[in-house]
Amino acid sequence: MDKLQELQGMIDESQNIVFFGGAGVSTESNIPDFRSSDGLYNEQYPYPPEQVVSHTFFVKRTEMFYDFYKNRMMFLDAKPNAAHLKLAEMENSGKLTAVITQNIDGLHQMAGSKNVLELHGSVHRNYCQKCGKFYDAKYVKESEGIPRCECGGIIKPDVVLYEEGLNGSTIQNSIRAIAKADMLIIGGTSLVVYPAASFIDYFRGKYLVVINKSGTSRDRQADLCIQESIGKVLGGIHI
Ligand SMILES: [Zn+2]
Repeated sequence: MDKLQELQGMIDESQNIVFFGGAGVSTESNIPDFRSSDGLYNEQYPYPPEQVVSHTFFVKRTEMFYDFYKNRMMFLDAKPNAAHLKLAEMENSGKLTAVITQNIDGLHQMAGSKNVLELHGSVHRNYCQKCGKFYDAKYVKESEGIPRCECGGIIKPDVVLYEEGLNGSTIQNSIRAIAKADMLIIGGTSLVVYPAASFIDYFRGKYLVVINKSGTSRDRQADLCIQESIGKVLGGIHI
């Protein structure tokens, strides 16, 4: 049987699907993975991306952090792609219970998804470190240099930086959703990449599916592996 037909059959049969998505879901909305550096990057920043997006860097070199963050991590004009839209449709029809994502762009919510567990936070939530006042992404993106609150405090994005821990309740809710799911679809990331690798240990359901452009040998743990664009694959599913 064709792999897409097989996926369609699994989805038809399942009532409690959870989707776990990685960077590949966003790259199809033209949001580049900030970890992938290019020639332009090397001219602009003398540090590896993982270092620039660390807690230490945010505290000590706030201006360079924000220069990188605004240019390389905030893509406010991006639109949801076929994968985001299909997942929202699946939730709306009662088949899908949660989207767990490592992406910070808010595209799942823009597509209409309600139960979105954002492991790494969101560019759309920003708080003054001094008084706690909320600011939206547009304010941060359009501010000159370091974004500051009207009280003078420095604004920090609600995004999990390197050296910072993931939010405990987001992890708990993610694990709870996976443990109850009858089908788990991992998309835009490989099965072996953290935290997907540790999360699947909680899955007790029937179908584990990996949809990712590049595969790994351990993806064989999955019941179905599709090495294809996530938007193309999910976009072709009928709910
Ligand atoms: Zn303030």
